[in-house]
Amino acid sequence: LAKDFGRNSFRFFSSEQHRMIQSRYQMGSDLQVAIDNQEFQLYYQPKVSLKTGKPTSCEALLRWLHPQLGFISPEEFIPLAEDLDLINRIGHYVIEEACRQMADWSLQGDTVNVAINVSAKQFQQGDIVEQIFAALQQHQIPPQQLSVELTETSFLHCPEETKRAINELRSQGIQVAIDDFGTGYSSLSYIRNMALDILKIDRSFLINLEESEVDRAIVSSIIEMSHVLGLQVVAEGIENETQLNILKGMNCDQLQGFLLARPMPPEDFRNWYHHQMNSR
Ligand code: C2E
Ligand code: MG
Ligand code: MG
Ligand code: MG
Repeated sequence: LAKDFGRNSFRFFSSEQHRMIQSRYQMGSDLQVAIDNQEFQLYYQPKVSLKTGKPTSCEALLRWLHPQLGFISPEEFIPLAEDLDLINRIGHYVIEEACRQMADWSLQGDTVNVAINVSAKQFQQGDIVEQIFAALQQHQIPPQQLSVELTETSFLHCPEETKRAINELRSQGIQVAIDDFGTGYSSLSYIRNMALDILKIDRSFLINLEESEVDRAIVSSIIEMSHVLGLQVVAEGIENETQLNILKGMNCDQLQGFLLARPMPPEDFRNWYHHQMNSR
């Protein structure tokens, strides 16, 4: 292993660092085979209308069930997949699986709108838009049923490709959401330059909503501004009733968070969805 980091370089690592590098190295090689071994799964977390309380859609969240280590967080393996140039293959799985699942739910009588997450790196290599169109067509899903969530790192790393991809997706009726809004460096400049559909306010602004007047001011301003720009607003990571009540007063459109539901495997999601759609 030390060879990979230069001769004798292991001397500069503490044993803890060495263990981390080794496990990252090991995880990288495990990631290579994880797709073929079908170790990935999509979980689905509902989004709910603040006005009606009914589900509007869900977000597909990737899960890796490692044969020895159990579930590994996407926060850990997505950056690794990006570094190792595996993100396109993994991203392709997500697109394909989300569309297959939508078709499956349709057969069972439920039209479910699904959002997928995409990484900046997926725009760089060019055929993500074609992958999405192909999957929608193959599974006969109306494009309006799909949305794509991206973070502003995409705008930072490949602004031209990202802009072109967004325009192509939107021209076919696929909705585009900006994820983790407010956490990057140029949040305002890109919502000024890009036509988008949905803005998701990052969880970090919602955690201290009750205590922090500053956070309340920021969140209500983001909501107002979004509405003027014609964007739907989703508040992410809602965990308690207090947050929910404050957001009601701010005219937020949709909510997502553990208070409403956690990310669930497909069968659990479908049961939840059914129950919610048919209650009251
Ligand atoms: P994200 O897209 O911002 O997704 C929201 C994350 O917040 C999810 O974590 C979700 O489980 C979590 N969450 C939802 N509600 C709550 C809440 O009330 N409280 C708290 N504490 N957390 C909540 P998850 O599933 O671990 O995903 C983390 C990130 O990994 C995602 O952030 C997204 O950036 C990335 N990711 C997940 N799936 C994919 C994928 O298929 N492709 C790509 N490129 N990235 C993905
Ligand atoms: Mg997301
Ligand atoms: Mg987010
Ligand atoms: Mg996030």
